[in-house]
Amino acid sequence: MNISKIILYDEPSVPEIQINKLKKFISDYIHTDVIIRNNLFNNANEKIIEKISKCRIFDIKSPFKEHNPTEEELQFEKEYCNNTKIMEGTKTPETAKQISEIIMYDGFEIRNVLESLIPKEELVNDVLHIIFTNKLTCTYDQNDFRYHGRAVICSNPSIISTAGMVEAPGKSREYCFDIMKAKSLGSDLESIKKQYQNEFLDYHDERTSKIAEGYLLQAIFYNLTGEAFCESLDCRLNNAHWQKDLLYSQLEFGKLCEKHQLVLEKLYL
Ligand SMILES: [Zn+2]
Repeated sequence: MNISKIILYDEPSVPEIQINKLKKFISDYIHTDVIIRNNLFNNANEKIIEKISKCRIFDIKSPFKEHNPTEEELQFEKEYCNNTKIMEGTKTPETAKQISEIIMYDGFEIRNVLESLIPKEELVNDVLHIIFTNKLTCTYDQNDFRYHGRAVICSNPSIISTAGMVEAPGKSREYCFDIMKAKSLGSDLESIKKQYQNEFLDYHDERTSKIAEGYLLQAIFYNLTGEAFCESLDCRLNNAHWQKDLLYSQLEFGKLCEKHQLVLEKLYL
């Protein structure tokens, strides 16, 4: 399938994405029209807010069950979607310390809500919609019967979650051990984070834009070829399970493997 236009939806609460830079990156890589739009979550009406809130996951060990939001949760969702004040005591990805404390959404359910916000005439095969969000998208895995965080939901529209980039690929055992040790001793966690900063991506990390390029390529490849990922670490399509692999494939190696570069050239040159 060919793509004649890509529409990128910005996430203004994460300026480190550098959406204009990403637009240029795609235009240089594949010769197609790229346009930037506002975030679809902003200014969502009450009905949409309710639909988004219904996508929340409360039990990571059960498949999706529609949630019935309370008034408080609806109010929270409204503020979260508009990037205004977040209610005290509620953990958004940036303030949460553990994945279990973070608000999680079913990635496919939220994708369906977002699709309903796109004008019908733009829901055509050759227009690819890629939506950035700070919400943590998750999918239920039938192999181990639990939800996992995902940085990218490949479909049309595709979703790229900045919280997923931080939370989905695992951090090293050594880091987790040091954090556990510091917690039990009541010592400073920030200094440990600093010590390991070259091994993982953090919230509002200046490397976010570069990492996002890889996830953009995965969403694009999925829609071009039906396959998003590559087995090789020496390729930006690698579906990293570990943070150190993510940083290696996207920053250190920073290219497509030969096979996938050829796929792209055949399609676009
Ligand atoms: Zn590859």
